[in-house]
Amino acid sequence: MPVVDGQKSSSEKFAGAERTYSIEALMGDGRALQAGTSHNLGQNFAKAFEIQFQGRDKTLQHVWTTSWGVSTRLIGGVIMTHGDDSGLILPPNVAPWQVVIIPIPRGNWKDTVLPACQAIRDELKAAGIRVKLDDDESQTPGWKYAEYEMRGVPLRLEIGPKDLEKRSVFSARRDTKAKAPLPMDGLAGSVRGLLDEIQANLLARALAFRESHTSTATTWAEFTATMEGRPGFVISPWCETDECEAAIKAETQATIRNIPFGSETPTGACVKCGKPAVVNAWFAKAY
Ligand SMILES: [Zn+2]
Repeated sequence: MPVVDGQKSSSEKFAGAERTYSIEALMGDGRALQAGTSHNLGQNFAKAFEIQFQGRDKTLQHVWTTSWGVSTRLIGGVIMTHGDDSGLILPPNVAPWQVVIIPIPRGNWKDTVLPACQAIRDELKAAGIRVKLDDDESQTPGWKYAEYEMRGVPLRLEIGPKDLEKRSVFSARRDTKAKAPLPMDGLAGSVRGLLDEIQANLLARALAFRESHTSTATTWAEFTATMEGRPGFVISPWCETDECEAAIKAETQATIRNIPFGSETPTGACVKCGKPAVVNAWFAKAY
């Protein structure tokens, strides 16, 4: 999940913190999700709770503390970043099942297809791939295809009597829905290669989506037009005052997500009030 990392504005800062940092992700509907935060609490909380240590100079001092908020919200972020109308699309690196094998139950499949499926499952497992063989007879292959698509399993392998004859398996990617036969020889290697490709493709796709939904606005007319139109990130020069930030939010619902690390210092005027700008802030409508 691509994220923009940077510092929060003072009004979005955690109460009692010296500074708050966040990672911000863009969801498929163009709204930003604060995916995680960390807070530099300085000595503020140590003073409130009297947490002290003895320094090298033997004096008692208050500790410096941090607080980190990276939680189950990330799971929601993954769902909303990569999912499509067929359901979840899980990146292989975090998918509980990276591969599902579905036998095609034709003829004497239990004596032919099923042992082949079991052998392939064992081969993939031995190669460190998280694989499930679904040999449940109460559901059809078609039902299973839809089920594992919805669950976001990155790669599906279908194996029937004809595939056995050809010493191949039929593969279907969840991310692109591309289908192709894979030879049984060296299958673990080609499956690993495909999983790596899917992982890279999902990140590249999400990054391209974010880039195509990120624009800059230096005038208020531009800013409001962009916020009313296609949602996403808008980068604008800002004077760094709370009042101006509040006015922008009241008029457009957009909030400052963060000021990315290493941002260039603007030379022009604040997008809203026209006073000299101090930073380039990333705005968006957020969850
Ligand atoms: Zn301003």
